[in-house]
Amino acid sequence: MTESERMYAEASKRMPGGVNSPVRAFRAVGMTPRFIVRGKGDRIFDADGAEYIDYVMSWGPLVLGHAREEVVKAVSEAAESGLTFGAPTGRETELAEEIRNACPHMEMLRLVNSGTEATMSAIRAARGFTGRDKIVKFEGCYHGHSDGLLVKAGSGCLTGAAPDSAGVPASYAQNTLVAQYNDPGSVEALFSANQGEIACVIVEPVAANMGVVPPEKGFLEGLRALCDRYGAFLIFDEVITGFRVAYGGAAERFGVRPDLAAYGKIVGGGMPLAVYGGRRDVMERIAPLGPVYQAGTLSGNPVATAAGLATLRLLRKNKENVYAELEQKAALLEQAYRKAGVPVNRVGSLLSPFFTKMAPKSFRDVQTCDLKRFARYFGGMLRRGEYVAPSQFEAMFVSAAHTDADIAKTCADIEAACAEFERV
Ligand SMILES: *Cc1c(COP(=O)(O)O)cnc(C)c1O
Repeated sequence: MTESERMYAEASKRMPGGVNSPVRAFRAVGMTPRFIVRGKGDRIFDADGAEYIDYVMSWGPLVLGHAREEVVKAVSEAAESGLTFGAPTGRETELAEEIRNACPHMEMLRLVNSGTEATMSAIRAARGFTGRDKIVKFEGCYHGHSDGLLVKAGSGCLTGAAPDSAGVPASYAQNTLVAQYNDPGSVEALFSANQGEIACVIVEPVAANMGVVPPEKGFLEGLRALCDRYGAFLIFDEVITGFRVAYGGAAERFGVRPDLAAYGKIVGGGMPLAVYGGRRDVMERIAPLGPVYQAGTLSGNPVATAAGLATLRLLRKNKENVYAELEQKAALLEQAYRKAGVPVNRVGSLLSPFFTKMAPKSFRDVQTCDLKRFARYFGGMLRRGEYVAPSQFEAMFVSAAHTDADIAKTCADIEAACAEFERV
């Protein structure tokens, strides 16, 4: 028995599936999760002393790699001065300014603790302002695990037995209308059947929780136009795309301005921190200025804001190089999959190989993937020291810490791992 297996058995006695978030359990690939003891740069090390090149990168936050010196220093210094006060601190405003400079639509914002909270609160703000109850989301998009959003959701919901969650009353979900990604017609149909009732459309501007599915030309623009026509808000869930597909996220990369947006992952630099905000007139309705309530004991936590601020500042100062380099490295990985005959979707440093005939353009396409082939590929990669997401329905995350030598090794391993299972 390996040390990871022993630790997993212990963990499983006390935590459902031995983990604190379902996809970590490796169930989709029928394996035992590796217990991680340390990370540095683009590498992680497990409890059995094995070393991996990491493409999970904590599912997105670590765009600068593990334990980046400047970020760790900022965190340690902040911690020395006190872990939390429940009173305002200056760094919260500094972080807010940094976000607003990157994302001009973030006129006012709130810091929260998780992406789940950020999207939930953005939707509450949209409902509070418009006085409408219904919302539109897309099949296969994941916006965290709040009740009304666990409807046709992506990420771990796709690998589990049930597509949606037990414990969500039908009455909570009935205000959530579901449209098809990359199909503005499906959104228009919902608007015309629910005139004056839809508060907002929430979308991952690059879908990354059903594997990566890029927005087709005109899709995001189409959503913008429909929201304007029907007086609803467009909410970008940039929890993955923010500060990743461009410094200003998907809004910058695709040139579409949302009314409200949610950020997480990178914005917290590896600490629990997320953000929602947007139009000033909407955010001025949040308590204590207005009637929309939202609060948090640890919101704007000094240690988390230090990590986020250090991360965003490093990204901004090196913006010209960082994003071009991320793009180049990810393009090499993309090429390796193509060479191996595996279709792949990529937007910037986000990519997914798909074990199906053609690179998916919709959730329906994604569902044609061969999950057994994925599991074999995953096993082959892990054996070669490549740590990719243990599910077909997640993205690969490339970071600034991935070295050219490691990218080259991964490219060779991709070809070898894919060739191996094709022979099976
Ligand atoms: C991860 C994710 C969330 C949820 O964030 P948590 O911090 O896990 O609550 C929401 N939306 C998207 C697009 C995500 O990828």
